[in-house]
Amino acid sequence: MSAGEDSTPPKGLPCPFEKLRPSQLVRDDAFYMALAFNLAVDAWRIDEVPIGAVIVRGGEVIAAAHNEVERSGDPTAHAEMLAITQAARKVGDWRLNECELYVTKEPCPMCAGATVMSRLGRVVFGWGDPKMGCMGGAASVHQLPKLNHRVAVTAGVLEEPCRDILRAYFELKRGKDTHGTA
Ligand SMILES: [Zn+2]
Repeated sequence: MSAGEDSTPPKGLPCPFEKLRPSQLVRDDAFYMALAFNLAVDAWRIDEVPIGAVIVRGGEVIAAAHNEVERSGDPTAHAEMLAITQAARKVGDWRLNECELYVTKEPCPMCAGATVMSRLGRVVFGWGDPKMGCMGGAASVHQLPKLNHRVAVTAGVLEEPCRDILRAYFELKRGKDTHGTA
């Protein structure tokens, strides 16, 4: 509500995207996705690929993370993986049947696999990724025929901002690369 809530000076790249301010009154899919989007903005500000995720249980946010591959030097440090680890700690069980994951981009093969392995109740994503998305985009890891746990999937929540922030980030990176060493 206050104008000063983003008072921490950004240390990385200036992000042209503003954080969303969803109404606290309606806790729908768009509300939780807005929280995930805001984590994507945080990721951009420290020069990480802008993807954010939250995990919700009974309406309460129990995990929140963004992509941290660059900072950690860990290729598995995707937003979803970090959020799933946090959620399992919080719940005290690796089975997350009661939990819902909100993530700004369709999960990759690794993260889609992790949603199955953690038995997440539902995955909600923003932008569907036709190249690497494995929950209906390029493939459907969650629908392997012999799985006995079925993850429900909802696609396309706040798709536009979730897609635009990623596209803008990669365009910026490509622009830099043409003048750099790559
Ligand atoms: Zn991933």
